[in-house]
Amino acid sequence: MPDWQDLIRDIPDFPKPGVVFKDITPLLADADGYAAAVDAMAAPWRGVALDAVLGIESRGFILGAALARALGTGFVPVRKPGKLPGRTLAQAYELEYGSDRLEIHADAVAPGARVLLVDDVLATGGTLCAALALARQQGATVVGASVLLEIATLQGRAQWDASVALEVGITC
Ligand code: 5GP
Repeated sequence: MPDWQDLIRDIPDFPKPGVVFKDITPLLADADGYAAAVDAMAAPWRGVALDAVLGIESRGFILGAALARALGTGFVPVRKPGKLPGRTLAQAYELEYGSDRLEIHADAVAPGARVLLVDDVLATGGTLCAALALARQQGATVVGASVLLEIATLQGRAQWDASVALEVGITC
């Protein structure tokens, strides 16, 4: 296991009893750990033609913006409802702790643009698959997704695999 993974801590009973939350803030606060984590997330995508990183609010912004810089792409925010000022496309989804909706500016990604989705954690997969649906609504080509860590017991990868074409990969 890379050293930077030791900087992610478990917080029991957050945000509700029985849930163990993976807290990445100690990793983000550590200069070497943050850099190593971003390098590891970027590594599989170096040399892959990409136009934009789509970062999912909010921890996907922190990692996605760094990844966009590392990979030399633009950054597009995928946000919680009501946050973006321009015309938006929306996608509802189920998540581990209820249901929610993601939005993206309708003109943020050109049809045919090659995009990488970025978030911190893959849990049930609902969030990442909602972002996938949003990107597809825009006619983008989703080249793959990069997450910092996967909570394998929640089987998010299975939902992702069922949602994407075979050539689309996920790395975490
Ligand atoms: P999913 O939709 O895959 O069930 O949940 C993933 C989303 O919820 C991600 O946007 C992620 O930020 C958040 N999330 C769920 N569980 C955790 C967790 O234990 N730690 C962190 N940092 N985020 C989580």
